[in-house]
Amino acid sequence: MRYQELSHWLSTVDEPLDPRPSLPGDADADVVIVGAGYTGLWTAYHLATADPSLRITVLEAEIAGYGASGRNGGWCSALFPTSLPALARRHGRDRALAMQRAMQQTVREVGRVVAAEGIDCDWHQGGTVVLARSQAQLGRARAEVATARAHGLDPDDLVLLDATEASARCAAEGVLGATYTPHCAVVHPAKLVRGLARAVERHGVRLHERTPVTAIRAGAAVTPYGTVRAPVVVRATEGYTPGLPGQRRAIAPVYSLMVATEPLSAQTWDRIGLAERETFSDHRHVIIYGQRTADGRLAFGGRGAPYHFGSRVSPAYDREPAVFRTLRRVLGELFPVLGPEVPVTHTWGGPLGVARDWSASVGLDRATGLGWAGGYVGDGVGTSNLAGRTLADLIRGVNSDLTTLPWVNHRSPKWEPEPLRWLAVNAGLRLMFSADRAEHRKGRPSRRAAAFSRLLGH
Ligand SMILES: Cc1cc2nc3c(=O)[nH]c(=O)nc-3n(C[C@H](O)[C@H](O)[C@H](O)COP(=O)(O)OP(=O)(O)OC[C@H]3O[C@@H](n4cnc5c(N)ncnc54)[C@H](O)[C@@H]3O)c2cc1C
Repeated sequence: MRYQELSHWLSTVDEPLDPRPSLPGDADADVVIVGAGYTGLWTAYHLATADPSLRITVLEAEIAGYGASGRNGGWCSALFPTSLPALARRHGRDRALAMQRAMQQTVREVGRVVAAEGIDCDWHQGGTVVLARSQAQLGRARAEVATARAHGLDPDDLVLLDATEASARCAAEGVLGATYTPHCAVVHPAKLVRGLARAVERHGVRLHERTPVTAIRAGAAVTPYGTVRAPVVVRATEGYTPGLPGQRRAIAPVYSLMVATEPLSAQTWDRIGLAERETFSDHRHVIIYGQRTADGRLAFGGRGAPYHFGSRVSPAYDREPAVFRTLRRVLGELFPVLGPEVPVTHTWGGPLGVARDWSASVGLDRATGLGWAGGYVGDGVGTSNLAGRTLADLIRGVNSDLTTLPWVNHRSPKWEPEPLRWLAVNAGLRLMFSADRAEHRKGRPSRRAAAFSRLLGH
């Protein structure tokens, strides 16, 4: 497999992506981690730096960064998939706010490690601007700011911009306003994950690539090349989790797809803005996301690709021509300066993990030594670092501010058996699309989408 073809990002790392040696045979460790995306590598990193005496092994089916970590939109944000009100309802206002503050601190923490380890990944904390381009979207922007205030966040965390202020940051077509938060950094995702892999090796972690784990059980991770025995086994397989025995209904893999343009001219950037490399989106229901890359491209993505029966994951699903066409069209609508033929040079995609209750979680079962983290619903670039630090504390038996956060040891229910799962996930996706289309036509908020959001507990 040519790993470079998996994403624009993997095609622009400064290394050949030759796989590291596979596991040579049976081995013992203190901690074995399955999956070398951000979750697995942050866990290894924080364990190894907190206790250099630990013997840590990471097993990866392909190469570090093969999964979503090498393909994503590069928003290292403080976004958490469960909203503040939903967290407050379940855990109280103080713990909900603590979760949000921990996420904000996580953005700074990733920046700190990137600098400390010399990971050259185009990191820049320029915040996020989420545009409102219809009255319905503006209503949601206002409501989001009001909700944030009611739950203890202040204008330094999230602010409403008027049309002029919003356009000064991102001069998209038809901007009526925006929300802006400084709590987001833009990153070259593959350079981050590959740099992290080198960093953990420098700290003494063993990383074996092309080593698929065929079973995880208490005390062992089994591969075709041998078994790694360890009192702690961490599952860090996110959207690929259903491929593990006994995990088919734990996580639903949902695909997100992206396009990248050719490098744009300085004059084009003068028209678009994003001078601080703010990540950008708008307040529609079906998520879109973009960034200005360090080499002057627009990298732009969105959800909306179908969920595949049986939670199957396949390289064939990374490419959906209809979704790429839609992304290209939306990009042209946002920025008409790109012309009728938006100059797209790269298209790709990948699976992200969604738990049945839309809740990300991290935890360690002390009785079995089995740990896990994931279900980030597309907000994993930052969240995986918080997960890694939390797992490092849980595994070392340290009680900290992190181990009392509300997502720790949360158990999501299983997804329904098929065909219900397939029907439900795809019906939800279609509903969101039709809500956006209806809003676009009528210019007022969609009641169907609001009802669906309530159903998800948002
Ligand atoms: C197109 C796209 C855009 C996204 N944009 C953003 C964004 O802008 N911001 C954001 O916060 N999040 C975003 N996300 C989500 C984010 O990328 C993920 O949440 C995050 O990368 C998850 O990291 P992870 O390490 O948990 O999983 P992954 O990166 O998917 O890593 C899992 C690893 O486990 C390996 N593996 C799986 N099964 C086995 C096995 N049996 N044995 C051994 N290894 C195994 C896989 O090969 C893979 O390398 C996006 C995702 C996609 C797909």
